Amino acid sequence: MRAAFVLSPGEVVVEEVENPVLGEYDVLVRVRACGVCASDVKFFRGLKTYRETPFGRASPGFTGHEWVGEVVSIGSSVTIVKEGDRVTPFIINSCGKCKFCLRGKQNLCPEKRYIHGGFAEFVRVPERNLLKLPDDVHDEDACLIEPLACCINGVEVVRPRAGDTALIIGDGPMGLLNLQVLKTYGVRVIVMGHHDERLEKASELGADLTINSLVVDAAESVLKATDRYGADIVVLAVNNRDSLASALRLVSWGGRINIFAGAHPSYEIGINPNEVHYHEVTITGSADAPRECCLHAIEMVRRGAVRPSAIITHEYSLLEIKDAMEAAQKRAAIKIVVKP
Ligand SMILES: [Zn+2]
Ligand SMILES: [Zn+2]
Repeated sequence: MRAAFVLSPGEVVVEEVENPVLGEYDVLVRVRACGVCASDVKFFRGLKTYRETPFGRASPGFTGHEWVGEVVSIGSSVTIVKEGDRVTPFIINSCGKCKFCLRGKQNLCPEKRYIHGGFAEFVRVPERNLLKLPDDVHDEDACLIEPLACCINGVEVVRPRAGDTALIIGDGPMGLLNLQVLKTYGVRVIVMGHHDERLEKASELGADLTINSLVVDAAESVLKATDRYGADIVVLAVNNRDSLASALRLVSWGGRINIFAGAHPSYEIGINPNEVHYHEVTITGSADAPRECCLHAIEMVRRGAVRPSAIITHEYSLLEIKDAMEAAQKRAAIKIVVKP
């Protein structure tokens, strides 16, 4: 099969290698499309590493995890899927025994390993990490089930209620998917960013107000739009000292902040405990998604409640993987999909 390898930071190649050998419970999937996630770009640049996916030829398809594909062969004991099934991965391989796994929060499992390898023609996956797709969930939407599930997980922790106003800080793919999920709750959504074409996409997807923070006084715009109370919900879809400081300043009393994005590199910031205490502000986080959020994501797409494929702007072939990574790094696209 043809597979992409990141040999060292910044060095990606596509090579012909043997197909993976299947164990008893493994499934071989032919990848039809694989989205480029910010974490793939961080891996490509050497800013993020994974013990399960080292650099080099041991990791065909490297960190690709936003994929959709078709089952082409199954191990001798596989019963969940069969040849020809369309599938997308539940990307967390967890221990199944710890407190978090037992509570259905596989995303918190301290032993979790990611199912990677999507930037290749084929990928090998344990059957329990596959989600079957209904025919009416098209490939372009299906490859974004995983990031959509992360947004569902993140939105649930801030308990949206119809009538709330949410502020999303960050107009990247995850900001736009958070927007789509929040809109299903009947929430008014403000998207703050600094890329006009992304903010236009946000309006197209139902944002009630978009704010280009390079052009206007963003904080003043949010306060003006909320009768100076601030937003009931703030989603940090880009995480740095400035965005968190803005969130703390622009959250309403009684409001909830979700630190949705990771910070690489990390940082520390001072918090006034009385502002949290007397103003009843909740600061929470979300990372990845448990399996049940993936199942909800599939149903939401199927019913037309969200359309994740609306954020796809560019498509590359596997042979063009280097261009795809560089375009993602330069933010020349909103969402890129690689097709083998
Ligand atoms: Zn991802
Ligand atoms: Zn566990």
